[in-house]
Amino acid sequence: MNYIEHLKMLLKRLLIILIMLVLLHFRIENFNEILKNQKGQSFVLSSMNIPNECKNCEWYSLCRNGCKRYRYENGKYYYCESYKEFFNYSYS
Ligand code: SF4
Repeated sequence: MNYIEHLKMLLKRLLIILIMLVLLHFRIENFNEILKNQKGQSFVLSSMNIPNECKNCEWYSLCRNGCKRYRYENGKYYYCESYKEFFNYSYS
């Protein structure tokens, strides 16, 4: 397994952990219940607001504007520049 495949596998595992944490946070057993729940709906809807910079970013499929806990009020991800530097370094 090369470095890129290893990184992709790691990111997939991190995504699964993130989803599990979201499910635990809402203490709801399935995704449909989250979508029926007002908190869940507002979480999903707020995630759909993507800054223009992210819409044009080559790393969006990996980053997805990062964790919403670490966003400025304008929606920009606090670690955006670090992520770009990391992804550029990792994929070069
Ligand atoms: S690296 Fe920055 S611009 Fe690109 S998707 Fe992530 S937050 Fe958005």
